[in-house]
Amino acid sequence: MALAFSSSPAIHGSLSSSHEQSKVGSQFGSFQHLDRPHILSSSLNVSRRRSAAVKPLNAAEPKRNNSIVPSAATIVAPEVGDKVEEEDYEKLAKELENASPLEIMDKALAKFGNDIAIAFSGAEDVALIEYARLTGRPFRVFSLDTGRLNPETYKFFDTVERHYGIHIEYMFPDAVEVQALVRSKGLFSFYEDGHQECCRVRKVRPLRRALKGLRAWITGQRKDQSPGTRSEVPVVQVDPAFEGLDGGLGSLVKWNPVANVDGKDIWNFLRAMNVPVNLLHSQGYVSIGCEPCTRPVLPGQHEREGRWWWEDARAKECGLHKGNLKQDTLNGNGNGAVHANGSTTVADIFDTKNIVSLSRPGIENLLKLDDRREPWLVVLYAPWCQFCQAMEGSYVELAEKLAVSGVKVAKFRADGDQKTFAQKELQLGSFPTILFFPKNSTRPIKYPTENRDVDSLMAFVNALR
Ligand code: SF4
Repeated sequence: MALAFSSSPAIHGSLSSSHEQSKVGSQFGSFQHLDRPHILSSSLNVSRRRSAAVKPLNAAEPKRNNSIVPSAATIVAPEVGDKVEEEDYEKLAKELENASPLEIMDKALAKFGNDIAIAFSGAEDVALIEYARLTGRPFRVFSLDTGRLNPETYKFFDTVERHYGIHIEYMFPDAVEVQALVRSKGLFSFYEDGHQECCRVRKVRPLRRALKGLRAWITGQRKDQSPGTRSEVPVVQVDPAFEGLDGGLGSLVKWNPVANVDGKDIWNFLRAMNVPVNLLHSQGYVSIGCEPCTRPVLPGQHEREGRWWWEDARAKECGLHKGNLKQDTLNGNGNGAVHANGSTTVADIFDTKNIVSLSRPGIENLLKLDDRREPWLVVLYAPWCQFCQAMEGSYVELAEKLAVSGVKVAKFRADGDQKTFAQKELQLGSFPTILFFPKNSTRPIKYPTENRDVDSLMAFVNALR
């Protein structure tokens, strides 16, 4: 909900609250615990970012239960060696393209130790947990409890915990955000205006919190799941959308060990290993998500047809893997919420009471003033931009920290009709661009780096205020 806002009298804006069966068969037919200790490759090179030089936990004598940390959201910085290990993940992905899921899982766990966790949805991605068990290494599992899951899924979580002797690290949505959404738009707003907003509150933001405590995560993404969005998923990549513990894009690695495995081969694996499965699968469900947004599919229907069936297939990502969405899907008028009738819905970002939404006249007046009452920090953004989405958590947190500091924090949507103006007058190169308007100067100062974590942004503000 947007409320009219005026701070400095001349500034107008708004405040917003806001693989083949045989192949896999041969793979698991030869499963055995990999030799220990595992020798990490030390010659992989060319990293975009520093990655974890973390010793694998208990590599010689794995004790799984000891590896479980109570909450991914509250992880303290782990022990990191002096060595800064560099890795070229595009090269590594090519090297591992024909590796088995077990080999990929082992590589991931060995490399990141306690700084990596499996994202478990309560569906057939239980295969990831089985692969992790087969490595003999300690591993962590987290899951997003959106509050809207099927009873069968909750029961399945309990079954998996007991079967493997693990504690799943559940992440929950922020109660205030859920309350605001449900009070203002009801319990089923996603049927009216797209699933993006609800998914952002109930899934994406909790996921972002979890990932901020990690350096790598493991997903069950497969190329055959969604021809529109997952056909090019690599087995490992620098996460294109989320930040890890060290902050900034490039600080998180995403492992997709079953990227090249067909759905039917996953099921052959689960049966062969006698792995427990969600009872919903026996009722026709293939892909399983939240109860209101998931339905069984008929034989021959693609599994994604059971998710958000009222929306266009091109945009069927909930935001957890939004880096998969291509620009031609994201562009147009919206941020990916494309409806069956072809209309699109723009779901804004940076929606919080601490961030002022500036209109064009508002930011023009801000530009003209040479004696402002307070300094301003303004992000020039586009809601469909994945880099803007990736920094949303940091910017919101920064705004909270600056709320009582006398520094105004704002946003200006600079795509579409505003882009030319923003390029000419506001130094817009690419999204997002962050500007600091000092108290006594007309010329805004452009934030010079791509480190968009809270501490880096705060250091920038503190140096100039
Ligand atoms: Fe909300 Fe449906 Fe997304 Fe679950 S899948 S978070 S209920 S929109």
